[in-house]
Amino acid sequence: MEILDGTKRKDPLQKHDPIFHRDFSKKYPVIDYGKGVYLFDTDSKKYLDASSGAVAANLGHGIEAIADAMAEQAKKAAFVHTLRFETQVQYELAREISDMAPDPLRYVYFTSGGSEANESALKLARQYHRDRGNKEKYLNIGRWQSYHGNTMGSLSVGGDVKRRQPYTPSLIKTDHVYSPYCHRCPYHQNEEHCGRSEQLHCVGELERLIIETGPEFISSFICEPIVGSQQGAVVPPEDYLKQVRALCDRYDILMIVDEVMTGFGRTGTHFAIEQFGAIPDILTFGKGVSGGYAPLAGMIVSEHVVESLKRNGQGKFIHGFTFSGHPVSVAAGLAAVRYYKDQRVLDNCRKQGEYLVQALQVLQARHRSIGQIRGRGLLVGFELMKDRDQDVFYPPEYGASELLNQQAMKLGAIFYPGAGTIDGKQGDHLLIGPPLTITSDEMNEVIHILDLALTEFEQLDQ
Ligand code: PLP
Repeated sequence: MEILDGTKRKDPLQKHDPIFHRDFSKKYPVIDYGKGVYLFDTDSKKYLDASSGAVAANLGHGIEAIADAMAEQAKKAAFVHTLRFETQVQYELAREISDMAPDPLRYVYFTSGGSEANESALKLARQYHRDRGNKEKYLNIGRWQSYHGNTMGSLSVGGDVKRRQPYTPSLIKTDHVYSPYCHRCPYHQNEEHCGRSEQLHCVGELERLIIETGPEFISSFICEPIVGSQQGAVVPPEDYLKQVRALCDRYDILMIVDEVMTGFGRTGTHFAIEQFGAIPDILTFGKGVSGGYAPLAGMIVSEHVVESLKRNGQGKFIHGFTFSGHPVSVAAGLAAVRYYKDQRVLDNCRKQGEYLVQALQVLQARHRSIGQIRGRGLLVGFELMKDRDQDVFYPPEYGASELLNQQAMKLGAIFYPGAGTIDGKQGDHLLIGPPLTITSDEMNEVIHILDLALTEFEQLDQ
């Protein structure tokens, strides 16, 4: 059908699926609705979502108080430009988050997603140094085993090789170190011996990189406190973050901790850093802050960074997004944060997390494919191996973790599959991160389905 300027209208009889899917080779079930930890598709198939979507739907589905708060706010004002105004809900949520975060993390900046939050943190670090006359400090150091998002800056500091590779020419120059994975130390250290020395070997490697590069060029160091998608809930040694903090202080480098996945109770405390006694200069958050009810993320910034901005940068952060602090998103966040508190969600998270780890240990005795089990709260993972006793992983092309998840989905549960690089080789893992509101019966269902899925999965390569 021609229209006036010669361009073509679509033939209304020729229907195509107009969604630009992440993977066009897949058929996506259509979700109709969710209730608690369950999702239901339009064919009435029920899924127990043991990954909270992308570890975001931390409170489960159907909480009316959150939905109502969003609707009320949408009726009041659809959009408020935070370049010119603030809103009551934005103020109240910032207050709640600021109170929740350990001192001196005080000022809350909102974005729509975690990648934007990390971009904002990297830019703020750069501006901080420039404002103070250190114009050469522009480089960021990240870790190979951390994921910080998919925008160019956040992708550059992250270490997901598969996601980075196609864009290598466009990535921002960043240096990387390995993160601690004592069970399979990338620096081949003996865990006991390394733990007893004054400085952990991986922190020593970071210091070596800083000195070699020249601290006068380094703006920030960014890491996840507990690695999520890239490694499946690997917990660092007790002192790691404290030692990194000391290095950042010594060399005037801003420490950014990415709690996009770990924040808002996921690991059993408001923020994972509370368990390691190290406070970053900037903490980024996302996902769980709104329980997944609305796109919302941001950063909490330390007093001294904001004081410097006021003193040296005319009080202006040269940055901003249209949807920063969107009233409906912050209304969702405020209702979610109140729900976490009122329902004592963190208590349940710790209790169910311990139970999950114990249950996995029982499953481990039956399944040769379960390697190391680790995690905190309800961010729990295990190494998915071809043979634990022989210490052999599946080859990367086998796509083990994805295969296991497909088996589980057929049986009615969803997990968070993943693979990372260990010593130049791929190692699969499975991440389990159900809503923090999960009940004991529902957790038993997760474990039962995982058991069945593992049995079927292990038979595939017999
Ligand atoms: N940082 C971490 C630790 C994440 O897990 C993610 C998302 O998975 C991001 C950042 C990126 O967040 P978003 O996808 O909301 O941009």
